[in-house]
Amino acid sequence: TSYGFRTVGQGEKQPLVNEVFHKVADRYDLMNDLMSAGMHRLWKDAMVAWLNPPKRPGWRVLDVAGGTGDIAFRIVKASGHNAHATVLDINGSMLAVGRDRAGKNGLAAQVDFVEANAEELPFEDGTFDAYTIAFGIRNVPRIEVALAEAFRVLKVGGRFLCLEFSDVEMPLLDKAYEAWSFNAIPKIGKAVTGDGEPYSYLVESIAKFPNQQNFASMIERAGFGRVTFRNYSGGIAAAHSGWKL
Ligand code: SAM
Repeated sequence: TSYGFRTVGQGEKQPLVNEVFHKVADRYDLMNDLMSAGMHRLWKDAMVAWLNPPKRPGWRVLDVAGGTGDIAFRIVKASGHNAHATVLDINGSMLAVGRDRAGKNGLAAQVDFVEANAEELPFEDGTFDAYTIAFGIRNVPRIEVALAEAFRVLKVGGRFLCLEFSDVEMPLLDKAYEAWSFNAIPKIGKAVTGDGEPYSYLVESIAKFPNQQNFASMIERAGFGRVTFRNYSGGIAAAHSGWKL
């Protein structure tokens, strides 16, 4: 790219992503607040409000790339502590922080943690009522494979909801955001973890991720119906919704 980052090949991607999140796991929640200036909390709240989990027991959600549990915990709380959430992540260090937080928040009974790959989910077909993934799918090397797996593990009538960085639609905000992400984010990464390079890669992965329309088409190609999206903060983030009909 014009930013001078080395191009990361498909086979190299997952090990690099794993290294990033292994390094930052302990400081991940702090990093999120610093790097998004706290905005990730609002976007996550909005996504869970859109999901609107039912307040009845027996409803199950799979939160993929769930990291330290932010989405799963919000869903369980929004369901009036009725829902059961499975947090799945490829990175044991992130899950360890999540498990710890679940305990501290009194949510351990309703949340479990599974170390696995989004491209190969260790569940039977038709297991979950909802599948969520927040700021995770752009890290997965083969997005179409992850989407096919999402479709497979959902029940008929189940909901897919994905929150991800997206294309900023206002020209001025676009420039400001670009300057922030390509300059400030790697610097914050370096200051907090001692290494800015992996964060440069993550910023680059945001720039490469398909825009709202193209990602909606990918979700449709995986089999989902009634695919729609909502922009947050002018498109800095967007949530995509689809149904297994
Ligand atoms: N969902 C959490 C949140 O919103 O705070 C965590 C998002 S974090 C930016 C991305 C997560 O994706 C990391 O925890 C990382 O380990 C996980 N991840 C990356 N590749 C993955 C894969 N192939 N399968 C499952 N999780 C993956």
